[in-house]
Order: sequence, then C-alpha cells, then structure tokens
Amino acid sequence: MKAHKNYIDGKWVSSSSGQAFESLNPATESVIGKFQKSNKEDVKKAVAAADKAFHNWRDTPAPARAKYLWKIKDLLIENKEKLARLEVQEMGKVITEARGDVQEAIDIFEYMAGEGRRLFGHTTKSELRDKFAMSVRNPVGVVGLITPWNFPIAIPAWKLAPALICGNTIVFKPSSDTPLCAVELIKIIEKAGVPRGVVNLVTGSGNDVGAEIVENPKIYGVSFTGSKETGENILKSAGVKKVGLELGGKNVIIVMDDANLELAVSGVVWGAFGTTGQRCTATSRVVVHKKVKKKFESMLLNRVKKLKLGPGETSDIGPLINKSAVEKSARYSEIGKAEGAKLLCGGKPVKINGRGYFFQPTIFTDCKPDMKICREEIFGPILAIIETKNFDEAVKIANGVEYGLSSSIYTENMNFAFRAINELETGLTYINSSTIGSEVHLPFGGVKGTGNGAREAGILGIEEFSEIKTVYFDYSGKLQKAQIDNE
Ligand code: NAD
Repeated sequence: MKAHKNYIDGKWVSSSSGQAFESLNPATESVIGKFQKSNKEDVKKAVAAADKAFHNWRDTPAPARAKYLWKIKDLLIENKEKLARLEVQEMGKVITEARGDVQEAIDIFEYMAGEGRRLFGHTTKSELRDKFAMSVRNPVGVVGLITPWNFPIAIPAWKLAPALICGNTIVFKPSSDTPLCAVELIKIIEKAGVPRGVVNLVTGSGNDVGAEIVENPKIYGVSFTGSKETGENILKSAGVKKVGLELGGKNVIIVMDDANLELAVSGVVWGAFGTTGQRCTATSRVVVHKKVKKKFESMLLNRVKKLKLGPGETSDIGPLINKSAVEKSARYSEIGKAEGAKLLCGGKPVKINGRGYFFQPTIFTDCKPDMKICREEIFGPILAIIETKNFDEAVKIANGVEYGLSSSIYTENMNFAFRAINELETGLTYINSSTIGSEVHLPFGGVKGTGNGAREAGILGIEEFSEIKTVYFDYSGKLQKAQIDNE
C-alpha cells in the first residue's frame, strides 16, 4: 500500500523522515491508508511555502478570494456522498451524520465566501476637525490549523474557510486518526485552483508536526480544536502568537417537571449517543427534576434499548474512534460503579463479527455532581443522570464543572427558559432542544475551561483570522494633537 503524501507548495511530496503511519477503520480495524509520518523539517518547508505565497494571496482582492471558496463549496457538494462514505470508513460516524458533517463544510465555505464582500471594519468620527478615523481588517499572516478527528471534514473547513477569506496562508495538520479525510479535502482545494503555497498539508504526530507549528516563529496564528490538556500545552509554548482554542465540554440537559418528556428523551438520546458521544457538545449529564425522574428514566431506557450498535452504514451508533477510546469508556464505567452510581444499562466494550471499537450505550443514575463521571470529559457513549429538587439547584449543578461549552433546558415555563439563558455558564444554550446542533451563521465556542474566548463560524469567525488596523487620516494640513488641541 502506497502512502498518501503531504501537500506543500502545490505539490504532493513525501516526508524527509521516510516513515509512514496507518489509519484504521474503527468498525473493522482494517487499514484504510498510509500517511507521511512527517517531522519538523517538513513543517519548515510548508511554512516557507506559505510565507512565499502570503503577499500575493493577501493582495488578491477579497471578492476574488471568495470565488475560490465558492468553487470549493461546489466541489464539496459534488463530492458530498463520496466524502460522507469515507468518513464512515475512517471515523466511524453513521452515514446520516457523516453527510451532515460534509454539509457543515459546504455551509461554512458558502457563508465565508459571502464575507469576501464584507470583511467589515468600522468608521467613526475623529475628535479633531479635518481628520478621518477608521479600522480595517488585515490577515494574520501564515497560520497553523490543528484539528481533531471527530468532525474530520467540518472542523478543518470551519478554520480553512475564514482563514482563506481573510487572506492568510495555511499550514494544516489534521488528526492522525483521520488523515484520509484531510487528504481528500485538500484535493478539493487543489482542484478549485487555490494558488500554490496558500494551503499546505502536513500529516504526522502532535509532538513532531503539531509542536513545530505551534513554535515556528514564522507562524503568527494557531487555531486549535482538541482536548483541554493539549490546548493548555499549546498556549504555554505558543508565546505571543494569536491562539484560538476550542476545547472540551461536560454538557448538560436540565429536564424540569413541566417538560415535554417525549421531547426531552429524544433530545437526550440524540445528544448523548449521537456520534457515539464523541462530540465536544455531546450531552454527558442530565439533571432531572425529582418529580419526573422515574418516568423519564424508564422512557429513556426504552428508547436506548432499541438503538442498534454497528458499522456506520447500517446502525444508529457507530464505533468509538480507536482502542484507547474504548479503554477510556471502560475505565470510566468502572469508576462510575466504584463511585456508587447505579448502572442502568451498558458499560461494556463490544465486538461485532469479532472486530471493531464498539461500546454499549451506557447510562448511570443516582449520580452525585462531584463524581468523576459527572465532572470529567469521557468522550464516549456514557450518560450520568443527577436528580434535582428545583431550578436553582439544577443551575448550580450544571455550572459546577470546569467546562462551559453547551447546555440545554427542557421546560414549558418561559421564566425558567430565560433564567437558563442568563444563568447557565456556557457558550451555547438550547431551549427545548439537545446540546448539539450548531448552525454555521452563528458563533460557536465555549467559556471557562472550554477555550480562550475565540469563536468559530458566524460573524465572529473572522476575528481569529484577522488583525484590526486603526487608521487616522489627517487632511487639515497642520499638526493636530489628539487630547490636546480639541478643547
Ligand atoms: P487531542 O487534543 O488529542 O488532539 C487534537 C489535535 O492536536 C490532533 O491533531 C493532535 O495530533 C494534535 N496535538 C496533540 N498534541 C499536540 C501538541 N503537543 N502540539 C500540537 N498539536 C498537538 O484531541 P482529539 O482526541 O483529537 O479530539 C477530542 C477533543 O477535542 C475532545 O476534548 C473534544 O471535546 C475536543 N473538541 C472540541 C471542539 C470544540 O469546538 N470545542 C470540537 C471538537 C472536538
């Protein structure tokens, strides 16, 4: 099997390491491709190419840059089914969700192409006569994009599209669990005619490729999505670079006693077990009012028992991404039992036809908010149910974790709904809807331990990839001193 290559300066090239790594199908454990195990030298070559391409790309008018994004969007539409099926093979997503992932990429390229005719700055009045004041938006420079595996097309697209429209050039390192999706995405960018050197792909490990991207002095911005632990390390070594971090979550659904329980159960099943619990916005805690807890649990169990586990082409729940993810879910299931939580269902790894990284959908109840399974991100199909006596206590429990990505409340009471919007410490809050389901024209991101304030997508998605320059234009023909001559 030949190894897929890196894409540097418009050419597909091998790593100088001469080494390769494999990507596996998590449902069958079979090898689906080999990839360059790149090193720091490869990153340096990619940075040099991006640096060389920068001035021309920056000076290409933004509406002209937008035309490339529009073309990429068209090619994504053309290749949607092929890419979705590839995601099922490489990441393990069920096919409907894989199509959704590609659709998110289509949507963000479409949205950001529109930015080509906006990229707004501000104009305002000067405090002095005959002086004009405004701010304009410039690219950051060469930027590094480092991405996880759970949305292998959408997350890179969420970074590539705004980075490109703002005029940056790019060194992109995908997760080593989903490099084939990245290679196929880059082939589309190549086919769209994006000039050489503007987008460069380097596959390989976080320690070699990722660390060099973070430390390379010619990279001025790093956009990272991944775990809190890696994000914190990146922040420590990035120095004064512009760094955007999108990290983990411990997302919650509150179910009040007046909730439409059918709706709440549907939202919990989708939030907890969609993508096998491997979404940063996955529902991992339910805080349910004691008056409806028993009924809610029995309705939930009935639904979860009907879910079909198996390869993504034919199932409701696909595999976890790899062996260590299975071990992590198994470990947390044991921790849950040892902490005294009651196991309602699941808790065990499963093989299908003797293969695959499957794990049963797992529900613990009678959990206490300070248990590890209620505080730590597991990133698997494990749900913790916590009882509450009222709204105030529910909010306190919801907010009692270090993360702050997504939250939801099911209630028919408008006052509780608005109080939840105001009081839940998360970047996203849903009312009568699950914790997952972002749309690209709204900002996405978290508070507290989920990030450092960056937002992706929507109108704020360009902030991470642009720098503001403030311009003062004095047409008075004399020296005017701000704060001094304006009395
Ligand atoms: P991870 O942190 O292990 O890896 C993410 C990326 O960082 C990979 O490409 C990896 O190779 C790279 N990396 C690892 N060490 C590095 C280093 N020292 N320097 C530079 N790069 C390095 O995360 P993962 O397991 O791929 O993804 C799962 C995590 O991502 C979960 O915590 C999940 O919540 C989070 N996530 C967050 C969002 C969000 O938008 N907030 C979205 C999706 C996933």
